[in-house]
Amino acid sequence: MIRRIINKLFHRHPGHIKGKLRSIPASEHGLRAQSISPCALRVIKTLQDNGFQAFVVGGAVRDLLLGIPPKDFDVATNATPDQIRRLIRRSRIIGRRFQIIHVPCQNEIVEVTTFRGHATHESHSQTDEQGRLTRDNVFGTLDEDAARRDFNANALYFDPVHHTLLDFFNGRSDIAARRLVMIGDPVTRFREDPVRLLRAIRFAAKLNFTLDPALVTPLRELGNLLDPIPESRLFDELVKLLLCGHAATCLTLLREYNLHRRLLPLLDQCLSTPQDQELLQRALANTDERWHQNKPLSPGFLLAALLWPAVRHEWEIRCARGTPLYPALFEAADAILEQQRRTLPIPHRFDGGMKEIWAMQPRFLQRNGQRPMRLLEHPRFRAGFDFLVLRAASGEVETALAEWWERFQNTPADHREPLLTHEPRQPRRRRRHRSPVSST
Ligand code: ATP
Ligand code: MG
Repeated sequence: MIRRIINKLFHRHPGHIKGKLRSIPASEHGLRAQSISPCALRVIKTLQDNGFQAFVVGGAVRDLLLGIPPKDFDVATNATPDQIRRLIRRSRIIGRRFQIIHVPCQNEIVEVTTFRGHATHESHSQTDEQGRLTRDNVFGTLDEDAARRDFNANALYFDPVHHTLLDFFNGRSDIAARRLVMIGDPVTRFREDPVRLLRAIRFAAKLNFTLDPALVTPLRELGNLLDPIPESRLFDELVKLLLCGHAATCLTLLREYNLHRRLLPLLDQCLSTPQDQELLQRALANTDERWHQNKPLSPGFLLAALLWPAVRHEWEIRCARGTPLYPALFEAADAILEQQRRTLPIPHRFDGGMKEIWAMQPRFLQRNGQRPMRLLEHPRFRAGFDFLVLRAASGEVETALAEWWERFQNTPADHREPLLTHEPRQPRRRRRHRSPVSST
């Protein structure tokens, strides 16, 4: 109670942060309506034709000013969700707490939000003991909406009909200087929504922005605020960090600011040897490269790599105790996923794929009889093989093994027979004590 009163007295509510609006003409900002997706443009025109304000906002404007093609377009308007629904037939209302509208077009979804404001009444906007916003569902004006956004660079509004750019917090000069500055007091804003800690890391990594010095200490000290954040929201943010094309830098920054504990509690252990560091760096670099080549990305593959050193360690312990190879691996996988689950569970739609990739690894050691043919037919063979290549590149298994599999899969089926090894099947007792990583 006392803390809440102190919070009220000393932590200025973002609604009270006032920006100084600058309206920048086309001749100065250089943005063009053609750079906006036709769908977002249509939505904005429809809203404006009906007397509402409507802008492209946030990441798309920031990215266009940086010369990066935006990955999606968010629209902000003073029309309410019901008014938007009535004007745009295909739109759907999403979310209960703060309704947003999705407008699906051919190959994109434009997200439309009504300006948010600061509530003057207790019941509309509340913070808990830690200063976290527990309710935030009040509509507002354009300048209030700008003050509610996280960073100056994310609070620019582009009107593609009148070609003006509205800048409330000098976001344009931050973008030009490539710096990430919080709107308002960083500690208050991180407390209101601790996910902003992770957003700061992602934008710094992805945009190659320098963190404002005022963010550094709060980033280092407020990691505990992530503890009560719901798992699903954190997992979404983890996936964004891993699949933003700059996963390697994201993880380096997360560790630098000690913000990885809730997301990947085993990460430090998984990076404890140079060989494992090599494996993870390669996995991250491959993912980032695929992102830059616009290839499909799978969070499951990267998560399988990020947890693999811990799984392998547990697997080796169980094998040394005499547990047979496969049961030892399954037990190790379950034990590690259980440890991960204690801070952030990996949803089932991913952990099945991860287990499949891991379970394929000992099967790559078997190059005789029908087994290699059967492994080739595995629906996830490609992912398992890519994983084997990673392990080989980091020195965990012999490169000859990965090369053999490369050759084997590229050889026409009726010429594969001579490639098979003809080792006799090992007696059961010997196999029990085989090392999980041996390739002989
Ligand atoms: P990208 O889509 O490239 O990840 P973005 O900046 O568009 O980056 P979104 O999550 O799509 O990020 O959010 C759109 C905009 O909404 C942001 O630019 C920001 O203005 C605002 N926003 C999103 N999340 C928050 C938050 N947690 N706190 C304050 N403002 C936010
Ligand atoms: Mg966005």
